[in-house]
Amino acid sequence: MAPLTEQTIFINAKLADGSRVDLTVADGRFCAIAPAGKTASVGPASIDLAIVDLGGQLVVPAFVEGHIHLDTSFYGDAWRPHIPCSKGFDVRERVAFQARNLAAAAPMGERAKNQLELCIGNGSLAMRSHVMVDGSVGLKHLQTILAAREEYRDLIDIQLVAFPQSGILSSPGTAELLDEALKLGCDLIGGLDPASFDRDVKGHLDVVFGLAQKHGAGVDIHLHDGGTLGLFQVEEIAARTKALGMQGHVAVSHAYGLGDIPADALLKAGEMLAGAGVAIMTNAPGNHAFPPVAALRQAGVTVFSGSDNIRDSWWPYGDGDMLSRANLVGYRSGFYEDHELAAAFDVVTHAGARALGLESYGIAVGASADFVTITAEHVPEAVVAVPKGRTVYRRGRAVAKDGKMV
Ligand SMILES: [Zn+2]
Repeated sequence: MAPLTEQTIFINAKLADGSRVDLTVADGRFCAIAPAGKTASVGPASIDLAIVDLGGQLVVPAFVEGHIHLDTSFYGDAWRPHIPCSKGFDVRERVAFQARNLAAAAPMGERAKNQLELCIGNGSLAMRSHVMVDGSVGLKHLQTILAAREEYRDLIDIQLVAFPQSGILSSPGTAELLDEALKLGCDLIGGLDPASFDRDVKGHLDVVFGLAQKHGAGVDIHLHDGGTLGLFQVEEIAARTKALGMQGHVAVSHAYGLGDIPADALLKAGEMLAGAGVAIMTNAPGNHAFPPVAALRQAGVTVFSGSDNIRDSWWPYGDGDMLSRANLVGYRSGFYEDHELAAAFDVVTHAGARALGLESYGIAVGASADFVTITAEHVPEAVVAVPKGRTVYRRGRAVAKDGKMV
């Protein structure tokens, strides 16, 4: 093993279990964790050693932003007033509003960077972004977002989903574009309401899973359909995942239907999802049924979260802060007890890492030293108080403080 040349010891850190420790980082990874005050440097005397006193602050792994749209937010650009649908929520109408807004917006690369720095500033160092790929925009959005991913690769790990925002079967040429997007560097293939949008569940899923198999890619499908229609599609996705041996590589985003079905049907769906290794993403939407987080976790389902839309054509909310998202998940789920607040926190950290298949995640020897320091007594208090005073460390180096990049 090559001698270590640079080492940082973060002394006086408080972990989620309440223990006080010193964290030693070398080559961007945690190489030792010892009770506070018991740490000696490891390696030759010539080592370049830095000591950082965390003063008893809470140290948690960096947040996982599990669902965002880097191409369509107007964060940092001019405010775009929300336009309501004419006859109740309609995806097609919203897509049309979005096209109109995007035509008048600042360059996409600029807007993507604004969003990336917002997320990193708040402590997310891993992200899954859906990127629109369809007949109307072709691969233009993807090319811009691929460049942004490259530019920020030292700061944040980004997975990209080729997202058919205008459907697959109802937008001619999209299947070929999705194929191309996966060749260009997308990690996953997306989908959109196979039943209500394309009106052909089998046809839609044949393309999605066919391309996933062809490219060895993961799957993450937007599913807004409610009730039994939503449940039916969740079951179809789970069945295909299991049949193809893709456990752990498939997610359903939103899955609103899981939030408005009877308890016994939910129990059955939870068992099926857990058995198929299909993760569920919820952003805890306002005034809308959403997947019951506690019941699904109880069934063994990986539930993760994301900001989804931030100041875009879908809604004006979103702040790129996954700690405040954990607060929303807890608030909307009726979580009050400490173990419930800790579960909400898990949704934006470890469960997110599992859903994204992140390796070497967490505060552990050997893991990448991607962490956030927070002024809070413990995790439950952090979820409730959402303190903005934080420092974000990427591979052991401070990259953001109090929301701003350093
Ligand atoms: Zn989305």
